[in-house]
Amino acid sequence: MIDPFGRSITYLRVSVTDRCDLRCVYCMSENMTFLPKPDILSFEELERLCSAFIRLGTRKIRITGGEPLVRKDVMSLFASLGGRLGAGLDELTLTTNGTQLAKYAPALAECGVRRVNVSLDTLDPARFAAVTRRGRIVPTLDGIFAAKRAGLAVKINAVAMKGVNEHEFDAMLAWCGEHGFDLCLIETMPLGEIADDRIDQYLPLSVVRARLRERWTLLDTSYRTGGPARYFTVAETGQRIGFITPMTHNFCESCNRVRLTCTGTLFMCLGQEDAADLRAVIRSGATDRELDAAVLVAIARKPRGHDFVIDRREARPALARHMSVTGG
Ligand code: SAM
Ligand code: SF4
Repeated sequence: MIDPFGRSITYLRVSVTDRCDLRCVYCMSENMTFLPKPDILSFEELERLCSAFIRLGTRKIRITGGEPLVRKDVMSLFASLGGRLGAGLDELTLTTNGTQLAKYAPALAECGVRRVNVSLDTLDPARFAAVTRRGRIVPTLDGIFAAKRAGLAVKINAVAMKGVNEHEFDAMLAWCGEHGFDLCLIETMPLGEIADDRIDQYLPLSVVRARLRERWTLLDTSYRTGGPARYFTVAETGQRIGFITPMTHNFCESCNRVRLTCTGTLFMCLGQEDAADLRAVIRSGATDRELDAAVLVAIARKPRGHDFVIDRREARPALARHMSVTGG
């Protein structure tokens, strides 16, 4: 799949649910209304769509959400997609909040998952409870160490929030170094109504990086994932640190990905509204050939880049949908 700007689209992110056991302040509002069950794709439908993408050249699939591991029987999807590894698919990965990972890490490894991204914004139990509005840190930490024991490479994702966790990154980088984890810091993105004032949350990672450089040696690397992260090797620990700066950097020219929601809507760009309804295509009884054609028509509409804008006076989201819908 080559888009109109010559980019090869080889990476599919699939949100398998909009539900979650946490309510992170930057992601959801306290009282979320979740989608009715019939709107959500069944595992058979998800597999059919993933198969179409693999047929058309997708090499990497990341399962996300919402919280993917709270969906009942989600391991059946990992098992079937894991069976495609080496037969079109090179990599199957997962982004999770880690609360269920202690239970599932060995099975994920058996399905062929080699790496997981776990979201952890703080190492402080009270702050964790505040940021997630309801979470306890212990299950997530247990999950992280279960993943490590199962042989999975762990990358910790932390959203940088002004006045919340901004003075913890030294400690988190040291902790990650000690345990052999990479760390990825993420700037908050203006997605969805979440009740809090985004102006108060936004912290440019250029500031964070400059502060980290006072203590750590960050060596440039050529490591890229085709996404918005810029990676450095931390000389003192040998681990990597990534900075995801969608608001301050233009990364779109190397974009290799599209996103499928749990309702079968394909977003060609995280920062744009245009989308294709693939659920309507499969529920109308389309053949595989017709489905492939619908996917290719959507890829042909992939825009050159995103246009996130945050109105700093209004603090309104640039896009109405939440990250838990599109899949972060
Ligand atoms: N529940 C899983 C988790 O938390 O890892 C997967 C889904 S979550 C939507 C994926 C990633 O998006 C997480 O790392 C989360 O921190 C990030 N995220 C959610 N809302 C965000 C926002 N408004 N700005 C930046 N990152 C956000
Ligand atoms: Fe749930 Fe992940 Fe969103 Fe937090 S960031 S509320 S864990 S989906």
